[in-house]
Amino acid sequence: MKVLLLLGFVAVALAEVARFDGEKVIRIRPKTEEHVTIIKEIADSVEVVVSSEVDIHVSAAHADIVSTLLLQSELEHEVLVEDLQASVEDQLDNQEISPRSYNYMKYNSWDKVEAWISSMAASNPSLMTTEVIGQTFEGRSMTVMKIGKQSSSTKPAIFLDCGIHAREWISPAFCQWFVKEAMETYGSDAQMTSLLDQMDVIVLPVFNIDGYVYTWTNNRMWRKTRSRRSGSSCIGADPNRNFDAGWCTTGASSNPCSDTYCGAKAESEVEVKAVADYIRKHLSTIKAYLTVHSYSQLLLFPYSYTYQLAEHHSELVGAPAARCSPSHFHTFTHITPPCYLLWQHQALAEGASKALRSLYGTQYTSGPGAVTIYPAAGGSDDWAYDLGVKYSYTFELRDTGRYGFLLPESQIKPTCEETMLAVKYIAAHVQKNLY
Ligand SMILES: [Zn+2]
Repeated sequence: MKVLLLLGFVAVALAEVARFDGEKVIRIRPKTEEHVTIIKEIADSVEVVVSSEVDIHVSAAHADIVSTLLLQSELEHEVLVEDLQASVEDQLDNQEISPRSYNYMKYNSWDKVEAWISSMAASNPSLMTTEVIGQTFEGRSMTVMKIGKQSSSTKPAIFLDCGIHAREWISPAFCQWFVKEAMETYGSDAQMTSLLDQMDVIVLPVFNIDGYVYTWTNNRMWRKTRSRRSGSSCIGADPNRNFDAGWCTTGASSNPCSDTYCGAKAESEVEVKAVADYIRKHLSTIKAYLTVHSYSQLLLFPYSYTYQLAEHHSELVGAPAARCSPSHFHTFTHITPPCYLLWQHQALAEGASKALRSLYGTQYTSGPGAVTIYPAAGGSDDWAYDLGVKYSYTFELRDTGRYGFLLPESQIKPTCEETMLAVKYIAAHVQKNLY
């Protein structure tokens, strides 16, 4: 009877899990404004500009009609994922069982990550402290892991977060990998040792914990937070549209049901407010902000909320940030003094991408967000940058769309290994250019 009851319970639980049978991901390349209009009719809340690429998620019921429409309008497209449910099942392709130690080559549920945070801190007391920086909407503790050799004076720091978007599972896997590598190679790897001697790295392993949990229990493709508000039956906001940087002016939706909903106001999401408060409080020590997403293989830097290009704030406190025009970006060979720092950001991103590529040949594209992909306001990188964090970068990890958010576990190790090289490249530069 006990077994039967349990089975019955499981069946009910499974019935609530979203399935994606027959759903497709189609990549479209619009060539004209007409094409853009058609895409916007098919899929609301996607960012589309001429000559860009856009991946749309099509339900099984609409697959045929969308396909016909694309053919009739001569829109260049390809089916990236034939059956999303098959990809969901294929992602967990690491069958290795390692009951004794934590498995960094599998995707780990929040329960496991949470226990891992405590156990890592307990086993590395001289190199790690933890701090709860806030609670999620559903009441889970947001814990940062501060990694670095203990010092009596305050050290400069790099803030690294993963898992802003719930479904991008490779992102939290990277933060876990980073912490593991830091603990394992401190004392043997000269660069890691020097970095942790001189600086701290503050890691938030999962930013959007509620959303992450939801992708494990209910809907693998969930992106947003899980906040609820009166007057709307739709749940959550996009935390990477909720920061106070050109908030909701472009590339974000004010429709609470949209996947890119910017929220009721900037920092309406408690998770965003917790991170923003923490960074504001430690602004004098935080010298770099790194945030990890997937997918697309990009290394982006400000701005995303405007096509204007970022020039770092004058070193004079209170002076407004100078801006370079987009034309400066395309004529780097004729760099002018006001845009020197923009050039530095590009050079650093390209150096990091080259380091990443050196391991497995993975190609990354780098550049300012709006120019490189599409304008999107309210992102954490732009916000940190405008606050005064000079080195602010967004990683979009593997792949370029074959698996998309459902990157198989067999790619966790190579993805994390190559990404480590890029992160260490940036960290070394920041360490040498403290301000
Ligand atoms: Zn993302």
